[in-house]
Amino acid sequence: MRLPPFTYNRPQDLDEALELLNAYGKDCKILAGGTDLLVRMKQGLVAPMNLISLKALSELAEIRETATDLKIGSAAKLSDILAYQPVQARWPGLFESIKAIGAPSIQHFSGTIGGNLCQDNRCQFYNQSRSFRRARQTCNKAGGSTCFAWKGGSDKCHSVCQSDTAPILIAMGAKVVIKSRQETRTIPLEELYSSIGEHPLTLGDNEMLTEILVPVRAPGDGSAFEKLAYRSSIDYAVVSAGAYVRTERDQILGARLIIGAVARGPLAIAAVEKTLQNTRVGDLHAIDEAAMDAMNAAEAFIANNMTQPVEYRTKMVSVMAKRALIRATQRAVSQTGVSEAK
Ligand SMILES: Cc1cc2nc3c(=O)[nH]c(=O)nc-3n(C[C@H](O)[C@H](O)[C@H](O)COP(=O)(O)OP(=O)(O)OC[C@H]3O[C@@H](n4cnc5c(N)ncnc54)[C@H](O)[C@@H]3O)c2cc1C
Repeated sequence: MRLPPFTYNRPQDLDEALELLNAYGKDCKILAGGTDLLVRMKQGLVAPMNLISLKALSELAEIRETATDLKIGSAAKLSDILAYQPVQARWPGLFESIKAIGAPSIQHFSGTIGGNLCQDNRCQFYNQSRSFRRARQTCNKAGGSTCFAWKGGSDKCHSVCQSDTAPILIAMGAKVVIKSRQETRTIPLEELYSSIGEHPLTLGDNEMLTEILVPVRAPGDGSAFEKLAYRSSIDYAVVSAGAYVRTERDQILGARLIIGAVARGPLAIAAVEKTLQNTRVGDLHAIDEAAMDAMNAAEAFIANNMTQPVEYRTKMVSVMAKRALIRATQRAVSQTGVSEAK
């Protein structure tokens, strides 16, 4: 598989990158680690005329803490975030989600957090070779007018958001900074996702993600990430869950649960907040109910977009949700992070 021809641009600072992005608009793609984009280019899914590399932009690779946030530059490598000592203890859910990404030897050392959040949606009928795709009608995601992943067809694309960091970062209340040559805006991470399979991000053609802001860990809170994959050493999630729980003494004050790899964007399970609020820590009946909330909500979205059966993935939502909620609660109470042994 060969890459299609393109012009490689290597801006030396952020202003130059934003200038290029503004000039090229639709005719370009940002290249961070390239572990998602270059594969899609080789498969002929995208063919941008220009690539704008973030490799020389050291300002986008910084990781630092302030009084309110962990600030991660969008081009920070996944391996650098894992190596940043406080993450394991204070943002354990984030640590776990990065650990779970792809093949560590490639994704962690080349892949970036911005690329992970901005990767395109996937589908078993779309992320295929040219010859596979040629044998079928063109699907919605490729510009056609049908969806093979939805029973009976659909005029919408039912591809799935596979970012492993998005569910837990949303659960923890992360925000993202988005820049264009004209303006800077900061939005809750969930607003980055459009829930439209064909165009899953709300970014404009002249915009890029520059920073991720993750709130500092408060006393009594905890986070956890769970992922089910066939091969833990390389695979995308079959189902994932990011949980954030706030406690005081033996009570749960609030909880957020986001399910990944089941819908066109990360799926927030709104009912969980109400189900768990003011319940006792360790009340497994309440956790079971919250896990069922997740399964019932996810059921409406799961399409045949992966090789695993829809029924299996639907059931696994409650399992992943339960595990993530239990571990986040334990961490909230004990104020621990990810143990070295895990
Ligand atoms: C075999 C394999 C296994 C994988 N497994 C997983 C997995 O388990 N979990 C998972 O989440 N991912 C997985 N991936 C996808 C990918 O490798 C990772 O998500 C990685 O973190 C992407 O980062 P990158 O820097 O390489 O992104 P790139 O490939 O450089 O970019 C990805 C997309 O994001 C855009 N982009 C990048 N940076 C920005 C920015 N700052 N602003 C706006 N847009 C931007 C690019 O234009 C591109 O469209 C896998 C990929 C492969 C090939």
